[in-house]
Amino acid sequence: MSEVLVLVDFQNGVVKKPTFELLTLAKRLGTPSAVFIGGSGDAAGVAESVKKYGAEKVYVIDDAQIKGYLVAPKAEALQQLAEKVSADSGGLAAILIPSGAETKEIAARLAVKLDSGLITDAVDIAAADDGGAVATQSVFAGNYTLTGKVTKGTPIITVKPNSAAPEQADGAGTVEEFAVTVSDAAKTAQIVATQPRQATGRPELTEAAIIVSGGRGTGGDFSAVEALADELGAAVGASRAAVDSGWKPHSFQVGQTGKTVSPQLYVANGISGAIQHRAGMQTSKTIVAVNKDEEAPIFELVDFGVVGDLHTVLPALTEAIKQR
Ligand code: FAD
Repeated sequence: MSEVLVLVDFQNGVVKKPTFELLTLAKRLGTPSAVFIGGSGDAAGVAESVKKYGAEKVYVIDDAQIKGYLVAPKAEALQQLAEKVSADSGGLAAILIPSGAETKEIAARLAVKLDSGLITDAVDIAAADDGGAVATQSVFAGNYTLTGKVTKGTPIITVKPNSAAPEQADGAGTVEEFAVTVSDAAKTAQIVATQPRQATGRPELTEAAIIVSGGRGTGGDFSAVEALADELGAAVGASRAAVDSGWKPHSFQVGQTGKTVSPQLYVANGISGAIQHRAGMQTSKTIVAVNKDEEAPIFELVDFGVVGDLHTVLPALTEAIKQR
């Protein structure tokens, strides 16, 4: 079987869940190999994580030449690796990349360099009858499902977080260092400073099993939303109205122009349920809404709905959970 390269999402010293989702999807297309662009010192830990999800090889590209620059050197490094693996094994089945602002730019540059087709923001992947990859996208705020296929070169597909449930599988996790030569032309945009996001002690939005979100109905007071979230060990999300009002940063936004989430439980508070918000959360396993307007569209998709003022309902709910 041909190899499938999966770009590892590695942040703050850990391999993030989207990597495991992509390795799971990669198995449908061929033999998964992880690609880690980062320090060699972290390689053993990365290999240990990804081999549990079926990665046979772990290509390590030490970031000495890449560090300090934005996306172009990473795209060049991936190009060199893809060409080498392809030449050695007679072709690559696909290259899978987690969807993100930076990674989608890497994917686009890589597609140009490899003269390959690119599909972004896939929510599912399947093997095509002729051996290629078929990707599903959710478009127009989730109102249409589009199925597409790359017809030129190695399929390069970026996949949204939470698109697949990670499945454990035994892989060899053999580490192979891969040396790259980064051209001066690629070193055009330098990183001047990086600021770590302030730790909240709550889980990452796209990885959380439970999300408690607030919208315009909070009136800017998220204390009841946050208290419930902390009681449930949940992440806090927000609608665009709450973000646009400056109550929460954009990293909290759920929806078409925010994050796509698919937790076990999504609790929407003071959120009307506009299609752009639904686009980011409608695949949640159980949806609960608290809204004082019984006609709010959010009630069309909930499993449980409470008509009431969130500033009264949420503290009562939090207290009831505490008593358990
Ligand atoms: P509102 O629609 O104003 O709803 C507030 C709700 O709170 C109402 O239903 C009200 O009954 C209820 N309420 C008020 N007070 C209380 C209370 N005390 N207790 C309980 N309930 C109360 N939106 C997103 O969320 N994410 C996106 O990514 C996104 N992308 C967009 C992209 C585009 C191109 C466009 C055009 C729009 C996008 N939007 C997005 C905006 C979207 O259309 C809505 O405007 C937005 O989701 C509304 O946010 P909201 O539900 O918080 O506010």
